[in-house]
Order: sequence, then C-alpha cells, then structure tokens
Amino acid sequence: MIARGHLYIVATPIGNLADLSPRAAAVLAGVDLILAEDTRNSRVLMQHMGINTPMAALHDHNERSAAGPLITRLENGDALALISDAGTPLISDPGFVLVRQVRDAGLPVIAIPGPSALIAALSIAGLPTDRFLFIGFLPAKASARRAALEPLRHAPETWVCYESSHRIDDCLHDIETVLGPQREVFLARELTKRFEQSVRLPIRDLRAWLRDDPVRSKGEFVLCIAAAEAHSDELRQLAEGRRLMARLRQELPASKAARLAAELSGAPRKQLYDDALADEAP
Ligand code: SAM
Repeated sequence: MIARGHLYIVATPIGNLADLSPRAAAVLAGVDLILAEDTRNSRVLMQHMGINTPMAALHDHNERSAAGPLITRLENGDALALISDAGTPLISDPGFVLVRQVRDAGLPVIAIPGPSALIAALSIAGLPTDRFLFIGFLPAKASARRAALEPLRHAPETWVCYESSHRIDDCLHDIETVLGPQREVFLARELTKRFEQSVRLPIRDLRAWLRDDPVRSKGEFVLCIAAAEAHSDELRQLAEGRRLMARLRQELPASKAARLAAELSGAPRKQLYDDALADEAP
C-alpha cells in the first residue's frame, strides 16, 4: 500500500477522531516519517490510533528550509506523510511549498482525502454549492477586513471563510456593515465535536443568536455567506447567454446569434452582441 519515494498528503479529523479513514491510518502507520504542523498536537491522534511512526515538525516557519532535505529523503526511497493539526493540509494550513517543490522535482504526491471544515460546512449549509469561493481567514485588523469584504459584496457565488472565537463577533459585525443586515449567513461551529451547532439566518439575526448565549461565540467557526441574489441571477443569465453565443456564432451572424441567445438566456442582447464583436476583433 505504501509506495517508496512517495509523499502522501493525509487529511485528519477536525474534531471527531473516528473520522480518520482506514486508508489514512494505514498510510500514517506505514510511512517512514510523518511531517506534522505541531507534533505534540498530532501525538494525541497517533496515540489514539496506536501509530508509532517517527514525526518531525513542518510548519510555515521551517517549510522552505526543510523542503530540500525532505526531497533527498524521497529520492532515496523514503515514504513521507504530511498532516496538519486538523483537516486537510494546505487548506489554510502549511504544505504548499513542500508539495510544489516535490512536484517540481518530478516526485509523486498522493492525496489521502478526508475531513475539511470548509467542505463539511458547505455540505450542510443549504446554500448553492455549484460554484463557491473560499477566502480562508479574513484579515485580523478591522480596516483591512472591511477592505477585503468590499469586493465580496457582489460575489455571484456562495463564499466561505474560517474564523476563530477571538474574532467571530468583530468579523460578523464587519460583514453586516459591508454586506447589509439582510444577507443570509450560515455559521457552523465545532463541527463533528460534541457541542456542534449550525444555523443559517440573516446576519442581523445571526448576531442576536450569538449574543443570546456566550458559549455560542466559543470554538472554531466556518461562515458560508450567501451570494448577492439579484446580482448572481444576472451573472448566471450572462454566463448562459455567452455559452449559447459561442455555439450560435458557429452558424449565424453576430446580430442574429445575439438576438436568439438573449431570448433563450434572458441576458441583455446588446451586451452579448458587443462581447461577440470584441472577441472577434483582431
Ligand atoms: N486545514 C483545515 C481544514 O481542512 O479544514 C483548516 C485549518 S485552519 C488553520 C483552522 C480553521 O478551520 C479554524 O479556525 C476554523 O475556522 C476551521 N475549523 C477547523 N475545524 C473546525 C471545526 N471542527 N468546526 C468548525 N470550524 C473548524
């Protein structure tokens, strides 16, 4: 099951240790070395699973200097696994530099997929997931956070961010300020853990829900923010219109194609026509 010289990127539980997959456990038990964001933290999981594989720390501060020697180990045939404190490595967690360099060295990188708070939250939010935007953590400073929120005001898709208990109140305050009190927000807290909670409400009501019980502001959070409705409908129509135009232009002149595409999609005829001319300009 473990191939020599492979780097395995292994997802680990985000709370409930039973979520470690059998394949992940077998890989962690079988590799020569586990690279962990925080070895003390990961030892709890290893002890729970009875895994004694040696561990070394790989985090944001040593990833660059560690990558070279780790590549040498892979070239010499060692199998390595990368894990983070929780969830899927590289998703708001270290690992990008290592994966990039290992791939650039022509060595195999294998995903052992599993929990991620982002996907877990999206899967229960009841918001559209056909497209979504992941922001990671919003900036810690209020002014930078508001500036980061500004372009998201009209995002045509559900967007998702992570937040910690230190900043959840300030973060929701700023989201309300920039996006307005009616915007629907889904909050998932302590996913897979004993006191897991999730709720979807207009942001003003969500903030009141948090204030009702101070315990609700504690723990780890994922926020999924609904797209700006009207705007998102317009963009969807335009995308459909453009898709139709691309096909119709193979058979029809631009004006006829734009008329038909506009009729079928609801997108503005002039915009489809202008886009087609711009695309065809030399
Ligand atoms: N790599 C992880 C993943 O795949 O989900 C995310 C790591 S990021 C450093 C940690 C953040 O993920 C937390 O601050 C929180 O926003 C979110 N998170 C992690 N576990 C969570 C849980 N059980 N419930 C809700 N959010 C969680």
